[in-house]
Amino acid sequence: MSKEPGTVWKTKEKDGRRMMICQNSNPELSKYPQWGPSDGVCEEWAEVGDETVSLTCWRCATRSVRGIDNDRI
Ligand SMILES: [Zn+2]
Repeated sequence: MSKEPGTVWKTKEKDGRRMMICQNSNPELSKYPQWGPSDGVCEEWAEVGDETVSLTCWRCATRSVRGIDNDRI
């Protein structure tokens, strides 16, 4: 069986839109915990589509880019 157990991230409805919490709200389950806040967890929500199973919010995505830059400078 190749099916992953699947992590179910918190979602909520807002004005008919599907919102999901950033996967770095739980670094232990996140695919990219290194992008999360260094002190604590991420609590950013963003709109997602019906197919989306995990979210990396813009804050963590920005952090990932900065991290790469920092390593090279
Ligand atoms: Zn995040």
